Amino acid sequence: MKKIKILGAGISGLTAAINLAKAGYKVDVYEKNKDTGMRFHGDMQGLENRKGIDVLEEFKQMNIKINFECYPVNNIILTNGVKTSEINTERARYYLVKRGSFDGTVDYDLKKQALEAGIEIHYNKTVPENEVDIVAIGPNFKQITGVAKGIVFNTDLEDMLVLAYGDDLAFKGYSYFIVRNGYACMCSTVIGELDRVNECFENTKEFFEKKYDLNVTSPKIVGGVGSIALNNTYMNGNRMYVGEAAGLQDIVAGFGMRFAIKSGYLAAQSIINDEDYKAVAEKTFENILKAGIVNRYLYEKLFLKNSYSLFIDLLPLCSRHNFSAEKFNILQRMIYPFALSYIKKKYSEI
Ligand SMILES: Cc1cc2nc3c(=O)[nH]c(=O)nc-3n(C[C@H](O)[C@H](O)[C@H](O)COP(=O)(O)OP(=O)(O)OC[C@H]3O[C@@H](n4cnc5c(N)ncnc54)[C@H](O)[C@@H]3O)c2cc1C
Repeated sequence: MKKIKILGAGISGLTAAINLAKAGYKVDVYEKNKDTGMRFHGDMQGLENRKGIDVLEEFKQMNIKINFECYPVNNIILTNGVKTSEINTERARYYLVKRGSFDGTVDYDLKKQALEAGIEIHYNKTVPENEVDIVAIGPNFKQITGVAKGIVFNTDLEDMLVLAYGDDLAFKGYSYFIVRNGYACMCSTVIGELDRVNECFENTKEFFEKKYDLNVTSPKIVGGVGSIALNNTYMNGNRMYVGEAAGLQDIVAGFGMRFAIKSGYLAAQSIINDEDYKAVAEKTFENILKAGIVNRYLYEKLFLKNSYSLFIDLLPLCSRHNFSAEKFNILQRMIYPFALSYIKKKYSEI
């Protein structure tokens, strides 16, 4: 039986492991923490559901069962305090999922699926990168570009997803307030100037408390840092890199789960079918990552100046007219060289 070693029992590493085990490989996963999902503490995150195949259907095709808590989002409220707009869609725009080390989270559900597939997960154990086949260790701490701080708590408010914009609330990022089935997650995300996060979170909390007449009791702190790379590392020697370890994170909104699971799947398929993982990964992710660079450039150049009012007007319009900003269309291709040069100057760490 062929043996494979994976570093990191997060969502990308476990997806790779599940697919390899199902194809008959003996898989050992090494995880530095005592359990899966310890990076998060009940955070609610949005699984982006871009045009094309539904993300949950895609996961099923990648041998991932959907047993974790998962709530479709068809209505999003956008606001900067002055202006408010709404996006309503028939197709779910996101699915909300929970992250952490407990039942119902994506992390824990993948762990269960991995154990059922016969994978051995060695907790509290790490090995050098050059001893493994797949590196799936999450953020690269030399390339931290974004940070989020937030809280989760119970509430009797009705379900909602509100995105709030403004550099006092979320410097170059966005704040979010999510409620699903009496469980709320409120966060502020900050890009670049990471030390602003405490102040931004306090402003965010005050903003939502006032807006929804909130009484927050027994909140639990959530959040953390995220890394982004302009040059993705898919291979180093014979090792494959997946998820955030490969720099796979959207530079506009910080989405990384779909990338993580897809890259884990592609790495496994490359081993099973003896394919060139780097070539497959580049082909799969290149355009969407480039479109993200252009979108981040436009976000900072066009929308920041008017406190994101134009953005709040434009987003529902794009949604109604089925305009996809992730396609890397002809206009985005023309803007790309300027966007890349701007991002390189602004965010030298990536
Ligand atoms: C606050 C926050 C909010 C986010 N919101 C969203 C969102 O709404 N939507 C979205 O799509 N994405 C979101 N993301 C990004 C998303 O969480 C990540 O992109 C995704 O979890 C990356 O998966 P991964 O498998 O690469 O890494 P992880 O899920 O971090 O897993 C990596 C694993 O490797 C382990 N590990 C690390 N180093 C070692 C080592 N040396 N040896 C052994 N094990 C090691 C870790 O302990 C961890 O278990 C958010 C991120 C943050 C921080």
